[in-house]
Amino acid sequence: MQGPVSLTARQLSFLENLFPGDALLTTPEETLIFATDASRRRGRADAVARPETADQVKELFAFASAEKIPLTIRSRATNVAGCCVPDRGGVVVATSRLDTILEISEADSLAVCQPGVVTGDLQAAVAARRLFYPPDAASAAFSSIGGNAATNAGGLRAVKYGVTRNYVLGFSCVLPDGSHIVTGARTHKNAAGLDLTSLLVGSEGTLAFFTEIILKLLPLPEATASLLVCFDSLDTAIKAAYAVLGRGLLPAAMEIMAEEVLAALAAVAPAPWSGAPKAALLLQFDGLKATAAAEAAAAQQAIEPFRPASILAALTPADEDKLWAPRRLVNQASFALGPDKISDDVTLPRGKVAEAMARFRRIASDLHLRVLLFGHLGDGNIHVNYMFDAADPAQAANAALARDATLAATLELSGSITGEHGVGLAKVFWLEKQYGRREIELMRALKRCFDPAGILNPGKGY
Ligand SMILES: Cc1cc2nc3c(=O)[nH]c(=O)nc-3n(C[C@H](O)[C@H](O)[C@H](O)COP(=O)(O)OP(=O)(O)OC[C@H]3O[C@@H](n4cnc5c(N)ncnc54)[C@H](O)[C@@H]3O)c2cc1C
Repeated sequence: MQGPVSLTARQLSFLENLFPGDALLTTPEETLIFATDASRRRGRADAVARPETADQVKELFAFASAEKIPLTIRSRATNVAGCCVPDRGGVVVATSRLDTILEISEADSLAVCQPGVVTGDLQAAVAARRLFYPPDAASAAFSSIGGNAATNAGGLRAVKYGVTRNYVLGFSCVLPDGSHIVTGARTHKNAAGLDLTSLLVGSEGTLAFFTEIILKLLPLPEATASLLVCFDSLDTAIKAAYAVLGRGLLPAAMEIMAEEVLAALAAVAPAPWSGAPKAALLLQFDGLKATAAAEAAAAQQAIEPFRPASILAALTPADEDKLWAPRRLVNQASFALGPDKISDDVTLPRGKVAEAMARFRRIASDLHLRVLLFGHLGDGNIHVNYMFDAADPAQAANAALARDATLAATLELSGSITGEHGVGLAKVFWLEKQYGRREIELMRALKRCFDPAGILNPGKGY
């Protein structure tokens, strides 16, 4: 499907009948915001449909397939890769009215959700029944289960608990031709046939619309304990973190923030650290009250030989919150350094993280850019934010060069161009560099199996 497509009067009339009242938006004032997402890229939404039932989705998709109308599925639009930007015009299909938690089953340890449920709301609802949904993107308070499943969202707890893919047991989906399929099962294990559920997780809205998602739940840990450890060198912080793993401990979260991030945070809110450390580690342990505290103490012992500048320990939720609050502010604090950012979420083999971070810093300094380095150290998933002012053409050009150099360095170090944000529009070009042409051809062949008319989220990924 090439170039933007506009809707005809007949097509609009079909949509008005299927989506009465404010379930369909068509004026430029109403649709403007649906043409963009947190990537700040912009497309064009000719109409926005807000289905309330799977049957409406089926009817819309069958019609769009026959009429070759591009469809872009959109949930909370917090992705930063342009995954839900309607690049070719057509209809944006919003999940905002499919936002019910349909079931929480203690007996089966699972939940069944519609896609628009906010992840944090699901986490709170299951926690009230002493159950645990571990994937916790830093955006959990404002992103959705559908978006998380379609991007295979990671998060702070991935080092111990894995990512969204590890928790999706099955889907009810509508395919682009309007047919309905059910994948997976209500079981925690399933070895039957090819794993369509895993294929759909991370498909970035290009293969199917998830109408229901079955999620695995775990028992809720009784307690957590946290450490905030500051260092006079980034390299030493990385070595100390990996010494914790070497001691046989597996934290629920293992985050790193480099000096530029710490300085940016200290500029917007009181910081729990003193001075100007070069790096900080945030570790969280969970389990029974006694074991979480004991593991935090053992981690402290493993770190001490690395002569940290300071160690703060927190054993109660209120005290932990004080240690973790700055981490949640990184995105806001970053914009004090520049109105625009190129935000990458590369993943490195653990042994290459220190070298990669040094290289990213050199790239920024060579191109006269401010860079913020932080992220999920336990997974080798490093966020690289180049801050710049897009109104200055020289800075904008340098930021684009920095992005290319970062991704090239990542691939040279056997890493991946994205650990959790996805490919979207932002990294289409780079996907073929990470994989080979044959692999991309296979992805395109799979796309054609699901979407022969090529209407679903065209222009993205592969
Ligand atoms: C401050 C901030 C912090 C963030 N932290 C993290 C983090 O820690 N980890 C992380 O992984 N990401 C993070 N993100 C990125 C973002 O929150 C995730 O990509 C998230 O999963 C997107 O969810 P969403 O509901 O906003 O989906 P959207 O952005 O609306 O959509 C994302 C993709 O999902 C598809 N989609 C949505 N619903 C469906 C459906 N029902 N069926 C099929 N496809 C669908 C869309 O077409 C699109 O391709 C962060 C973003 C911000 C702004």
